[in-house]
Amino acid sequence: MSLSPAPVVVREVGLRDGLQILPRVLPTAHKLEWLRLAHEAGLREIEVGSFVPARLMPQLADTAELVAFAKTLPGCKPSVLVPNLKGAERAIASGAHAMLLPLSASHAHSLANLKRTPDEVVEDLRRIVDLRDAKGSDCLVEVGMSTAFGCTIQGRVEPSEVLRLLKAALDAGIDRIGLADTVGYADPLQVKTLFEQCLAVAGDKLACGHFHDTRGLGSANVFAAWQAGMRRFDACTGGIGGCPHAPGASGNVATEDLAYLFASMGVPTGLDFDRLMALRARVAQWLEGEPLHGAIWRAGLPKTVAA
Ligand code: ZN
Repeated sequence: MSLSPAPVVVREVGLRDGLQILPRVLPTAHKLEWLRLAHEAGLREIEVGSFVPARLMPQLADTAELVAFAKTLPGCKPSVLVPNLKGAERAIASGAHAMLLPLSASHAHSLANLKRTPDEVVEDLRRIVDLRDAKGSDCLVEVGMSTAFGCTIQGRVEPSEVLRLLKAALDAGIDRIGLADTVGYADPLQVKTLFEQCLAVAGDKLACGHFHDTRGLGSANVFAAWQAGMRRFDACTGGIGGCPHAPGASGNVATEDLAYLFASMGVPTGLDFDRLMALRARVAQWLEGEPLHGAIWRAGLPKTVAA
């Protein structure tokens, strides 16, 4: 008797990580269709946007409306990115399933992007957990530790610093945390080692791998994290979400590539490959002129793999 492997969750983050760096604003009607098609394709965890001031990011100004729509889709768990306490208030009010808080492992990246040191961000986490609890909300507080594998500003990021911040974030009372290769610097051995070290500290609270395919190692890094025991990954339809520091580079790992990666190994994801490809085709129409990435769309599934 062979045991079937544990399922993997793929969270679609194209509506946030993918769209936030594009100069164009995708109309809300298209985003609602994106959500509907993603849900039809079997995606249940979807990051729908971000509660940042609309003047800073007009691309994501309709986030509350998207959360409300996602909640009408059976089993759908919408998450939102929030940069601070104000954003957390809006996330709680929206009824989102989870709010994602960025914490940079790179001191320099943290100052440049969040205008705060990593330790100041950890203090904010504590306040956000307290706020959530005071409101009686069941919105999960998830941390995305960005630049965990290297940073375009400071270069190397020490694993000891990642582990220190991981412990500090857990002490602040957060529900779960993921490691992100924000700029596509990670290699598979580095990923396997760091995920193993962090899993030993965080257990099942370490709950996400977020990889960019900037330099072509995205899927290899997902596989390495999976080997270390990770069972939940972020991905973007069409591999959108390129790096502002590396013009023309690939974006996040593509949702359809991860569906293929896990299907090829017999790991269940609940994803329907043909429907993911249909969604990709729609996104390509909506974002005409923007480069899409990923690999499996070119040749399609091999005859030996059923998805
Ligand atoms: Zn990202």
